[in-house]
Amino acid sequence: MTARIIDGLLLSQQLRAEVAERTAELTARGYQPGLAVILVGNNVASQIYVRNKIKACNDNGLYSVYDCYTDDLTEADLLTRIGVLNSDPKIHGILVQLPLPPHINAYKIIEMIAPEKDVDGFHIANAGALMTGKPLFRPCTASGVLKMLEYQGIPLAGANAVVIGRSNIVGKPIAMLLVQADATVTICGRKTRDLAVHTRSADIIVAATGKRNLVTASMVKPGATVIDVGISRDDDGKLCGDVDFASVREVAGYLTPVPGGVGPMTITMLLISTIEAADRAAGGNGCDCTRLSGGLCSTRLQTLLI
Ligand code: NAD
Repeated sequence: MTARIIDGLLLSQQLRAEVAERTAELTARGYQPGLAVILVGNNVASQIYVRNKIKACNDNGLYSVYDCYTDDLTEADLLTRIGVLNSDPKIHGILVQLPLPPHINAYKIIEMIAPEKDVDGFHIANAGALMTGKPLFRPCTASGVLKMLEYQGIPLAGANAVVIGRSNIVGKPIAMLLVQADATVTICGRKTRDLAVHTRSADIIVAATGKRNLVTASMVKPGATVIDVGISRDDDGKLCGDVDFASVREVAGYLTPVPGGVGPMTITMLLISTIEAADRAAGGNGCDCTRLSGGLCSTRLQTLLI
């Protein structure tokens, strides 16, 4: 069997056409969706991610602000800046690129973002509400993964899903969304005794570790769906994921590539979250945002904020 490739670039292009259309509608009503992206320090990978996010805003008609600080920025100054963005009506979404330099407490910074502008979905109000299935925003990578599975029509209810990686910002939210879709979910991490025992019985494997070639063909059940979230570089400096693409392709039913898989979907879901936030600011009823991503309506927002 040769796996069908789930093309994240293609799906992103389709969704971004809707993003641009919806952005134009909101802009015409005086609510151009606006995203503020903050980068502190000179982490090369972060600089690339941030540039791609700003470019995606520009390409699709969103307003964007890019704050790029040197790594001697104080925590107090960053908190102040977020406070200003929280009350800026042109900004509907605020994203602080992680990791932050060690002298800045990332938890404190994320908690400073107004939950209704927390398009990354990392604020405790949204992370907590994810548990109940009703966050204002779902973390972008996790919702991108679910979007890819839905788009491909992969059955989730009753499926055995294994998520490898259990970080707060990637692995756990993916697992939570799979649980909400009625999958039976196993979460594996570094201390998992025998990873292959779990993955071999999985209908869906989501690998999110950053460990190159962690998932090999012998760990995959024939016909399974394999989603590769990981990003690392091979010995030649080429981007690669957690999955040994060449061998797993011969066993899996569906497989996402790196690059061109989950990465573009993460950015697309960020744009969608920003549109949802702008729609709520415009007093929208949420129907329009659900068309794109199954987001919450503004009445739901009001319920959550009181
Ligand atoms: P992290 O370092 O915070 O977490 C990695 C997780 O993987 C941990 O829970 C750890 O226990 C687990 N892990 C590590 N080695 C393992 C092993 N050998 N076996 C089982 N589990 C193991 O990283 P993160 O922020 O969760 O990101 C994970 C990966 O996803 C990274 O490569 C990151 O670059 C990538 N990422 C991709 C996107 C995207 O849009 N494609 C977005 C965010 C993160």
